[in-house]
Formats: sequence, C-alpha cells, structure tokens
Amino acid sequence: MKKLLFISLLLLTYFATAQNNQKIYDIINDVSAERIQKDIQTLVNFGTRNTFSDTVSTTRGIGAARRWIKSEFETISESCNNCLNVFYQKDFVSKEGNRRVPHDAWVVNVVAVQKGTKYPNRYVIMSGDIDSRASNTMNFTIDAPGANDNASGMAGTIEAARVLSKYKFENSIIYVGLSGEEQGLFGGAGLAAYAKEKDWDIIGILNNDMIGNIKGVDGVIDNRTFRIFSEPVPANETERQRKSRRFYGGEVDGISRQLARYIHKNVKTYMPEMNPMMIYRLDRFGRGGHHRPFNDLGFAGIRIMEAHENYTQQHQDIREENGIKYGDVIEHVNFDYAKKLTAVNAINLANLAWAPPAPKSVAIGGIVEASAKLKWEKVDGAKGYKIYWRDTTSPTWDNSRYVGDISEFTLDGIVIDNYFFGISSVGEKGFESPVVFPNSVMR
Ligand SMILES: [Zn+2]
Repeated sequence: MKKLLFISLLLLTYFATAQNNQKIYDIINDVSAERIQKDIQTLVNFGTRNTFSDTVSTTRGIGAARRWIKSEFETISESCNNCLNVFYQKDFVSKEGNRRVPHDAWVVNVVAVQKGTKYPNRYVIMSGDIDSRASNTMNFTIDAPGANDNASGMAGTIEAARVLSKYKFENSIIYVGLSGEEQGLFGGAGLAAYAKEKDWDIIGILNNDMIGNIKGVDGVIDNRTFRIFSEPVPANETERQRKSRRFYGGEVDGISRQLARYIHKNVKTYMPEMNPMMIYRLDRFGRGGHHRPFNDLGFAGIRIMEAHENYTQQHQDIREENGIKYGDVIEHVNFDYAKKLTAVNAINLANLAWAPPAPKSVAIGGIVEASAKLKWEKVDGAKGYKIYWRDTTSPTWDNSRYVGDISEFTLDGIVIDNYFFGISSVGEKGFESPVVFPNSVMR
C-alpha cells in the first residue's frame, strides 16, 4: 500500500511536470512572426526614432514611437484584465558634458509590469530599444529606420508581453522599451537606478539588441545560431571578493554568467533546433548594450543577439555606394528568426517567473577531504534543491543531483579541487532557479 502511494505520488509529480513542459511549448508556438513583422513596420514608419528627434508629431520621431508602444502595452493589458501596469520612466539628459547629446532632452522608457502573484517584488526583465540612429548619431532629423537595430528587439518585447500576459506568474515580469541607447545607454542607466531606488529584487535582465538579421556582412547565412553575452563577474564586486576568487575560484561564474547558462540550457531543452552560443564577454569587442548599466549596479543581465551582424545595415544613412545598399531597412529583417529569438526570451522569462528564489548563503567545504560538502539556506517556495558540478574547463553544468528538501549535502567521493559546484532551487511545479555559485567556505 505504501509502495502504491509512493508510485502514484511519483506519477502525479511526473504528470504535473509534463503539463508544465507543455506550457513552455505552447509559449513557443504562440509567438507570431506576422505580429513581429507588423510591429517592426510600424516602428520603421516613424521615420527616425533618434532619442533627440521630434516629440510632438503624431507620425514621425521618438515621441510618436513611444506613445505607440505605450498604447500597444495598454491594449495588451486590456485583454488580460489589466494585468499590466504601464508607465513612462524618464530622466533628463543635458548637452553639457555629453559629446553625443545634440540638445537637452528627456530620455523616456516605456515600462509594462506584470505583477507576480507570490513574489511581487522579484522582477525578471526583458528589454528592447525604442531609439535608432543614422550614420551620424547627432543627426536627429534624417531617416533612421532602425529596423533591426533595434525595432526587432522592441517588437520582440511587445510580442513576449502578448504571449505571456495570458499566464499568471509567481514573480513579476517587466517588458520595457529603453531609449537613449545609441548616445550612451541613458535609458538603461535610468531604469537600473530607478530599480535600485525602488529596492526591486532583480532576478535578471534579458536585453535584446538586434535579433532579426541572419545574413552576415561576410555572406554567412544562419537562422539557427544566436549569441548570449555575459560578463564573467560583477563589475561592482569588492576587492575582498576579487582576492578570494584567486584561492576559491569563480572567474567564470558570476551571476550574469549563471543567467547565460540558464538560458542556454532551456534553449537546448525546449528549442533543440536552435544553436545558442554563450559568449564569455560583457558584449561585442569594445561595443555596448543596455544590459551593461544593470551589470554596473550589480544586477544579473545578459544580451541576446543574432550571431552574424551586417555592418552595412546598422548605424548607416540609407544610400547606395559602389553597388552596396546601406541602411537598416526592413527588407533585411528575417521575421521567423526574430520570432525564434523572441521565443527564447519568452520561455526563459516564464521559467524564471515560475521558479522559486535561488538558495541563499551557499557554503562549500571539503578541503583535504575525499568528498565535497555544500550547505545552504532554504528558500520559501522550494520543494527541493539540485546540486550541480562540472569539470573546471566546461562551460556548462554537466552533472547534477536532485537532493530533496534539505539544507546540506555531501557528494561522496567527489573531490572539491577537481570540479566547480553550484546549487539551484526547484519549485513545486518543477521550475528551477538559476544556479548559485558558493559564496562562502566551510572549514
Ligand atoms: Zn545600435
């Protein structure tokens, strides 16, 4: 009898997990390439979305663009019983002291918050950019369609809101259009500071910047590969943390890197047709993106992006020179690819927003012993914990063991020196937090 009860419990858990997997597949299927195409076209039709362009016109410039984005979020909210709280978050930037600011202006972000049912103050964020630029970023009147850079990321963010607003999540999700990216990451810096001031507990930001180009400047065509950029360790770590890393490791195990691994794993699991590339750097060589200001303040954040860029189609005036057509026009955007990368975001937002918080205060021990030990603080909402380890040269968490609802565990015969270790929380419905790298040492 006891055995039967055990088996039926096991089966129940199995079916609950299977149903949740089904929800993730439903989310992938719900993302629409047609709607993304329509939204990119609408954004392109504003002529330019330069941060310093016209704010009064109803048809041209950044003002018209942000009002349209806000109204789009409001329309989505109406169809989910007002599940989104939509507002402008803005900061003033002045010409003085800013080389790439042509005149004083408000940098305005459009924010849509879908409140979590259990942990309303924990937020996972998806961002795209409202703004665009031409060859000269100071020229705010010339056409700058910014179809791929970054109407694609903006349209993907709006589409993710459409799809995910049909579900309820335990954590909050923020869909945001950021502005001022091209002149100095102003919008991201503004929202990151706002989050800090409001004491938001940020699980992570998934920044989308250029998710629609499949043909590289070198002619490579690839509609499967994409990049996940993440910095190795937080930029604002203390000197003490830096020093201790020399003895205990963690050079490639910061919070943003764990977020990148989390996304990589979910894509491999649910979208096996895709080829995610984890790139072990903050961003492209010497270039920037809107996840960085979040990283600056110690928040986890990564950039999702196409794998092959075409430089004749970004930050260029529309023109033809020596037979080459320049300009970021909609003809170059692949909507099916943008749909895939939007789905990558959506399934990760869903997994994170359905998962319990990651374990706290994770300690590791086992110096001059045959077995590694882990000890952690339990978190509210976890039904158990999963220990991970990997070879020190491996980019992914290759080995794992679910250990149930306990707060310490010894990995028999696994020598601490030879692997890296981490731990995640697993929720009632099987959703899992990102992996936490140990942050203290047991003697
Ligand atoms: Zn750009």
